[in-house]
Amino acid sequence: MNAQQHKRKPMVIANWKLNGGIDLICTSVASFIGKHFETQIAICPPYIYMRDMLTFLQHSEISIGSQNVSKFESGAYTGETSAQMLKQAGCKLCLIGHSERRAMFRENNQSCQIKVQTALNHGLLPVLCIGENLEERDANITKDVIFRQLSEGLENINLDGKDLCIAYEPVWAIGTGLAATPEMAQEVHQFIRRELAVLLGEATAERIRLLYGGSVTKTNAKELLAQTDIDGLLVGGASLDPGHFLAICQQVSEQAIAKGNQPGSAPQSAASVN
Ligand code: PEP
Repeated sequence: MNAQQHKRKPMVIANWKLNGGIDLICTSVASFIGKHFETQIAICPPYIYMRDMLTFLQHSEISIGSQNVSKFESGAYTGETSAQMLKQAGCKLCLIGHSERRAMFRENNQSCQIKVQTALNHGLLPVLCIGENLEERDANITKDVIFRQLSEGLENINLDGKDLCIAYEPVWAIGTGLAATPEMAQEVHQFIRRELAVLLGEATAERIRLLYGGSVTKTNAKELLAQTDIDGLLVGGASLDPGHFLAICQQVSEQAIAKGNQPGSAPQSAASVN
């Protein structure tokens, strides 16, 4: 563990996907309100619930994120929501290039690149999701896939001192109950950080938080977080159970203190969540 790692404030993001409703909002809000965590926490609900959640959670430490963002600024793009709208609504971050969007909605590295830059331009924290599918892992081309997703997804990105997050989510681990082992995940995270150093410079690569996602539960969260290059978690299924998600957040918070993040330390930067 190096000094830089201490400075990366851990982060946990809940991705509700096309799930949830008023009941889930109420129980989630009740679980989190009034609690303090040594980690940044964000929930990405369906768009329709964002405003309600922002209102309910305004005095909490929980931020709201979006599951997607338009690559367009405005105009005749039916069904889209722009980065500016999300920012104005109070959203802090957006997921970009989730594997479900890549597989079902024709997202590719090029559209992700535009979305990352658009999010940055409007003061949202982009969380670029990358990861190999089972075929690619079996063919031993995981690192090639990751390299391409990173180099194309971040091509000519102008960070201008702002934050960016990468979520490594092996497609075969998403929603399957088959999480990557901590060692497997660490190997890819380490590779990602090295590639980020080549693409964006060493100092930036050391600053960027890398999240692991794919069948995270309260049982495997701690072990994953203990890895040197895993700075947080992106949680799908388990985040739909507020008690379960709370337990994950508490573990990450405890681990943050154990890893050396001082209680009460300031958020990582102005563009960070919270
Ligand atoms: C996800 O879809 O981002 C995800 C991590 O899902 P799950 O935790 O259910 O595997």
